[in-house]
Amino acid sequence: MKVAAAKNRLGNWLLLGLIILVAAMLFSLIPLLYFYPPDVVWSFITLRPDERLASSLHYIYTIFVIIFFVDIAFIRHFWCRFMCVYKVWQHGFKTRQSLHVAYDKTRTESCDKCNYCVTSCFLGIDPRDTNMYDSCINCGECIDACNDLQVKKGEVGLLRFSLGEREQNRSGWLLGRLGSLSARMKWTLPFSLLGLGMFVWGLANYDHYRLAVYRADAEFSSAIKDYRIRVSNKLYRDAVLTLSIEGLPKGSYVLSASEARFDSAGKLDLELQINNSLPQGLHRFLVQIQSADGWQDSYRVQHFVGKGRGLDHDR
Ligand code: SF4
Ligand code: SF4
Repeated sequence: MKVAAAKNRLGNWLLLGLIILVAAMLFSLIPLLYFYPPDVVWSFITLRPDERLASSLHYIYTIFVIIFFVDIAFIRHFWCRFMCVYKVWQHGFKTRQSLHVAYDKTRTESCDKCNYCVTSCFLGIDPRDTNMYDSCINCGECIDACNDLQVKKGEVGLLRFSLGEREQNRSGWLLGRLGSLSARMKWTLPFSLLGLGMFVWGLANYDHYRLAVYRADAEFSSAIKDYRIRVSNKLYRDAVLTLSIEGLPKGSYVLSASEARFDSAGKLDLELQINNSLPQGLHRFLVQIQSADGWQDSYRVQHFVGKGRGLDHDR
């Protein structure tokens, strides 16, 4: 932010910071009204003890204050530019004929060394070259700004609202749209590409089946030596998956079934019971699974045998 040298004083900056802080503290009360009725929020403001207030509310409020402070002081109009639903709604009804800002191209010499309308647009648009796909909300700030300038010369501004067919963009139809698109996507493009990359990666690594092993005592009984093996088929087609245990001596366990059969998508739970034949100590074993179409996976389990009880630590 540029300020006149005479105003560039520490006291002024401190005062500005204080005003922004007060504004941020006031705005931060608004989200609290979503969670609490007004009388509880009033208790919070007046520091009155109220058992309905969460003990962590001061931290949450502080985070809101920081967010609002940063937004007002540095980002400016973050909500308007990136979050406002009204803007998106309005944008959905735009056509080439709908209300838009028009520029008087016959007087371009008036714009030499002037950029006032651009700096007055809080959405960062150049009002002299708006496109249908720009996020202009037709607030008229730029038109007022130009009018204020031109009125001193006894002329009308170069910008005005217009209805009807837009003038062809000077850079051509296709280039104009590409330029508009790239201008709007310059911040979001890296995130969009990241999301797209993750989506493709997810598709490429998507498993049609899933294997998980839990301690059965969580749901079935208090016997810690029992495990629940959950097999999932995510495809709406029949499937047969074969299970085996590797790393445990034969006879030290009982697997309720060695196959999981599916008619369609779904989940099946098998039980693995480990008997008392294992010596004390840590026993690592693998639950292995394989489908008829070649998919395979394994789940590592660490089974601990203590003085009469076993504990496991899943992978
Ligand atoms: S404020 Fe008016 S004169 Fe200045 S650049 Fe914008 S359109 Fe041109
Ligand atoms: S009308 Fe408002 S949003 Fe549109 S270009 Fe002008 S200042 Fe920006």
